[in-house]
Amino acid sequence: MQNFRFTALSETLDRQVVQVDYPSEKISDFYGSMVFNHDVMREYLTKEAYKSLQSAIESGTKIDRRVADQVASSMKAWAMKHGATHYTHWFHPLTGTTAEKHDSFVSPTPNGKGIEEFSGSSLIQQEPDASSFPSGGIRNTFEARGYTAWDPTSPAFIMEHTLCIPTIFVSYTGESLDYKTPLLKSIEAIDKAAVKVCQLFDKNITKVYPTLGWEQEYFLVDSALFAARPDLVLSGRTVFGHSSAKDQQLHDHYFGTIHSRARAFMRDLEIEAHKLGIPLKTRHNEVAPSQFECAPVYEEVNVAVDHNQLLMHLLDKVSRKHHFKILLHEKPYEGVNGSGKHNNWSLATNTDENLLAPGKTPAENLRFATILVNILKALHTYEELVRGSIASASNDLRLGGNEAPPAIISAFIGEQLTKTLDEIESLPSPDGLGHGSGKGAHINIPKIPEILLDNTDRNRTSPFAFTGNKFEFRAVGSTANSAKPMTVLNTIVAEQLTLFYEEVKMLLEAKMRKEDAIFKVVKQYILDSKAIRFEGNSYSDEWKAEAARRGLSNHANTPDAIKAYISEKAVALFEKQNVLSKRELHARYEIKLDKYVRKIQIESRLIGDLSVNHIIPTAIKYQNTLIENARGLKDVLDSKTYVKLSRNQIQTIKEISEHVSEIRQFVEEMTEERKIANKIENEADKANAYCYSVKPYFDKIRYHVDKLELLVDDQLWPLVKYRELLFIK
Ligand code: ADP
Ligand code: MG
Repeated sequence: MQNFRFTALSETLDRQVVQVDYPSEKISDFYGSMVFNHDVMREYLTKEAYKSLQSAIESGTKIDRRVADQVASSMKAWAMKHGATHYTHWFHPLTGTTAEKHDSFVSPTPNGKGIEEFSGSSLIQQEPDASSFPSGGIRNTFEARGYTAWDPTSPAFIMEHTLCIPTIFVSYTGESLDYKTPLLKSIEAIDKAAVKVCQLFDKNITKVYPTLGWEQEYFLVDSALFAARPDLVLSGRTVFGHSSAKDQQLHDHYFGTIHSRARAFMRDLEIEAHKLGIPLKTRHNEVAPSQFECAPVYEEVNVAVDHNQLLMHLLDKVSRKHHFKILLHEKPYEGVNGSGKHNNWSLATNTDENLLAPGKTPAENLRFATILVNILKALHTYEELVRGSIASASNDLRLGGNEAPPAIISAFIGEQLTKTLDEIESLPSPDGLGHGSGKGAHINIPKIPEILLDNTDRNRTSPFAFTGNKFEFRAVGSTANSAKPMTVLNTIVAEQLTLFYEEVKMLLEAKMRKEDAIFKVVKQYILDSKAIRFEGNSYSDEWKAEAARRGLSNHANTPDAIKAYISEKAVALFEKQNVLSKRELHARYEIKLDKYVRKIQIESRLIGDLSVNHIIPTAIKYQNTLIENARGLKDVLDSKTYVKLSRNQIQTIKEISEHVSEIRQFVEEMTEERKIANKIENEADKANAYCYSVKPYFDKIRYHVDKLELLVDDQLWPLVKYRELLFIK
């Protein structure tokens, strides 16, 4: 029998650093060269078309047909100059990946020749035969009509000789079938709500937009080793594998020297990313062996989300060239750190200010405190929804691990800000505030700027931490489409700011001084949202108990976490803010349940197959060797010596039998549970069955398989071991 593990291992021994033809120019010379950006627009478009497109990008005005034709023709000319032969509408269906269907520019002419064409209508709208994308019942396969529509706020780009046009994807009846549509609507919602609030402070602010800087963590594994692990291939994670004697305990990988093979890969990746205008800035080794991170400079959230989706694609593509496989899964290996995608989020204005940067004047600081406190209040009110926005079968394996934030949402703001909020809270009733020295000076907020930025303590255990001038949402999983958590965050903050404005307005109508009115509501919000703030160790058990006392939710599993999407509270929120309708929310909920079921089903089958076809036969084979050997000993030794010397051997034979029999038993029981679950019609009940009746077998089976790994002859063991997977040779 061929042992694929050894074939794979020997293949990796000869690995060299892949030599790439790196461009000779400096980065700034090719940066953004594959993007239909402002410079290209100015060069290729008429003045009129350029103006019209700019206004569509900045203020969402409609582009008329004639201009669309002009833009399309310019895009075609530019794309063809860069070797593009095809175009595609590029979108984010609810599968979680991105989708594209390529069409050639070329059309036949009557005289038997061809001509390159790309019209405004092809740019604006397409109707992909998209019947197999999940729609949660919104669109039946027999009325497959869904269409993609151009999103001019995210620039078109060229990838693999194809002009890619970022689009939204909606059903014929207008319901969203993707992640981008609600994201764009949430951006609009927060703009509207935040501008109103900002105008209480500064009339020059006419536009507010969310910014996102993501940090993407991932693992690299040699492609040969990857191919020899069916579980990595099918589920993206190892379902078995005893921990390696050494993994991350020496912390020698974190920020260490990057392995030359990994470095070559990263350089190649960055070149590809920079050509596409993805502003990658940082790269470093992460905590676990073979774990890495890259992060760009932050951007407007819609573009940042598109860039992250693109980057995940590039990671996969470029890694193959370097004989690596990228593992984006949140927990590819048990016992070492998993991967997240920290979402650094803030709000920026047309006046080039960051609303989460503490200001220099008292008025600016009151504004800062207002925004901060509204975010905390929103988080407190909708913590369950925020948890739901990052729920997935794979992130469940990471959240609450020793290194990852728990499934409890809380916010960390650091000592200085806590003090400031405490001070505001302890000030006498706002009625007394009118006696202060005017303009909010009495609020003590002027103290913030000097200390804050240098002083934000880093609480690495918090799922949602204020880090000086932005919030870092750390519970987001590495595979996630950031549009999901960003949509929720934008929407809940939009709602909160809307309410805030209404409350302040009422006080103003009652003739209260503006600063006092704002202060009064801010103070109330500080009191209301106190329970969401936690400065301690979020990994600790004490916090779990404390959070429960505070009434915060703790949903460890996706089927429970995503219920928040269909709660009355969520429906009211999303409908009021015009981001998602009840029908869309229910559809999304169904899709999430279905995805969860399928993921657990795949892993369960995989665990069954590997146990029965790989592990048990190998264990028995080794056991037979031991039995033969024991028999042989019996023949050559006198019976007293035999009894004495064979004791350990017999014990091992017994242990192997016990593990094998437990594995068999559990696999059988798990299969039975799966059969029961599969018959359940209601999708929520089915997901629960998979979660609470099927999944618990995973660890039980794994325990015995991992024990066998330690007992069985290394030469026979079929699966590449952790010590081999985790370290790049
Ligand atoms: P770290 O959190 O690892 O210390 P930084 O704080 O420097 O790293 O930045 C992490 C990410 O936060 C980067 O992608 C950065 O661009 C982003 N970031 C910085 N400022 C903002 C902002 N105002 N809005 C959104 N993201 C931001
Ligand atoms: Mg960070």
